[in-house]
Amino acid sequence: MDKLQRPVRSLRVSVTDRCNLRCQYCMPEAEYVWLPKSDVLSFEETARLVRIFTSLGVDKVRLTGGEPLLRKDFPDLVRMLHGNEQVKDLAVTTNGVLLATQAKALWEAGLSRITVSIDTLRPERFRELSQRDQLKDVFGGIDQARSAGFTGLKLDTVVMRGVNDDEVIDLIDYAKSVSAEVRFIEYMDVGGATRWTAAQVFSREEILKVVAEHFGAPAEPTDLESWAPARRYRLPDGTTFGIIATMTAPFCRTCDRSRLTADGMWYLCLYAKTGTDLRGKLREGATDEELTALIASTWQSREDRGAELRRDPIQVEMLRSDPHLEMHTRGG
Ligand code: SAM
Ligand code: SF4
Ligand code: SF4
Repeated sequence: MDKLQRPVRSLRVSVTDRCNLRCQYCMPEAEYVWLPKSDVLSFEETARLVRIFTSLGVDKVRLTGGEPLLRKDFPDLVRMLHGNEQVKDLAVTTNGVLLATQAKALWEAGLSRITVSIDTLRPERFRELSQRDQLKDVFGGIDQARSAGFTGLKLDTVVMRGVNDDEVIDLIDYAKSVSAEVRFIEYMDVGGATRWTAAQVFSREEILKVVAEHFGAPAEPTDLESWAPARRYRLPDGTTFGIIATMTAPFCRTCDRSRLTADGMWYLCLYAKTGTDLRGKLREGATDEELTALIASTWQSREDRGAELRRDPIQVEMLRSDPHLEMHTRGG
């Protein structure tokens, strides 16, 4: 347990800091400082670290990035992690662009769940938002994931006022049509979101209002999963959706997650400015016992509550000098 009695249970593993989109809420800048390739952990190194985390209680692993499907031979890593019996839930968060070509391999490798980030259903808007014209590929990826056998697909949408807040109902309908559940995420002021303004945050309350007005009745909250970031709601016809209200209702008190970057830096909070260099220790020859002791003691002294405190926002210059502060490096 950490200092706020939160167990270490969920690990987000970023496998690359590269991305094939340029979402304006995540990577709006023209230039980026990338992690040196030689620093990026091999699959064996990642699997070893994950094994140490699972020995300490982690049972949920989510692979992310940048865009995780850009990592060469990505399904091989999935297969290795699937071989770790202590991982009960092995998921990936992807922008879906390359999913059509990899869905089958990911299913065969033992991936349990997929979350696809999709912010709009309109091609022109997708192009404006991501600087790429690939919405068709995302739709194709979702279809192929279903054909490959994945059920319980989740769709993550960052809702921004004046950008896509008019698509809340369309996204609920689309999710239903592909047997998925959409989760609306409030636009966060995380590192990387250099264009963020408070005025653009479309809040949980506002989303619920749009939904209630459209359906003529408020969405009912479903049973609360106390450790999950999303609150889930049910519509009169039984359709469910989620809202992740990081900005207006932070859930730090129940946060059991931490983040491992592609180059082996471990962060205890999305907002943390510093992390623990596990790659350095690993490559210096640390034993499993030494790494276990380091991770356990670091977690025990954790008291992070980044979204609640919102201290010292990250400036663009800080991102240039330390790319680990970027959302696309930290994995969201
Ligand atoms: N590229 C993959 C994707 O987009 O799904 C995985 C990495 S991405 C950093 C993970 C998640 O972070 C995405 O769902 C994305 O929408 C979310 N994200 C990035 N910047 C955000 C921001 N400023 N506010 C809220 N969510 C954000
Ligand atoms: Fe968009 Fe994900 Fe790439 Fe960020 S990492 S730019 S959210 S696709
Ligand atoms: Fe957890 Fe930090 Fe996010 Fe709070 S801000 S929920 S402590 S990662």
